[in-house]
Amino acid sequence: MTVACPECDLMQQLPDLEPGGKARCARCSSTLATRPTDPINRPLALTVAAAIVFIIANTTPLMGLSAVGRYSSTTIGGGVYEMSQQGELITAVVVAFCALVAPGGYILFMLTVLLAARRPPVPVWIGELMRWAASMQPWSMTEVMILGILVALIKIAELATVAPGIGMYAVGAMVVLLAAVGITFDPDEFWKRVEWADQ
Ligand SMILES: [Zn+2]
Repeated sequence: MTVACPECDLMQQLPDLEPGGKARCARCSSTLATRPTDPINRPLALTVAAAIVFIIANTTPLMGLSAVGRYSSTTIGGGVYEMSQQGELITAVVVAFCALVAPGGYILFMLTVLLAARRPPVPVWIGELMRWAASMQPWSMTEVMILGILVALIKIAELATVAPGIGMYAVGAMVVLLAAVGITFDPDEFWKRVEWADQ
């Protein structure tokens, strides 16, 4: 396969890489290609961990609230409901999307893709799903999600004195795990396993 170096544009032939191998540009030595040691099982393990943490983050209290001598706690969903009740509908929708819909959808999508890729050949519709997801990428950025979660926390913190709960740590762990899934998942390795459409 011939590729152009992303840094200096030098055209060169790529060798077949060993698992864990890396190809560098002959002229500027920037990385041309890498081949992960375990392209499917490692991101899959991280995705399963993220799914577990996602469930914990949404079922345990995000934080304990102590207001006017009353102690209560709230989950992400509870916080969203509270915000919509207080007339902050737009904030509620943004927070629900960033903290619930986006990470949940991403985890489901990665589980589908990775489980399908474990047993090649991968059906063509999974390839379609990947292409669709690539066009959605700017909307599922972890940074956007973290921002949404931060807004949620600040909004909830306005209501009362807060003490971080288990859910808060779960959210932190989830953000780290989702970033790790993104780093370990290699779309090229995935595409090698997809069935050709005209076969
Ligand atoms: Zn180069």
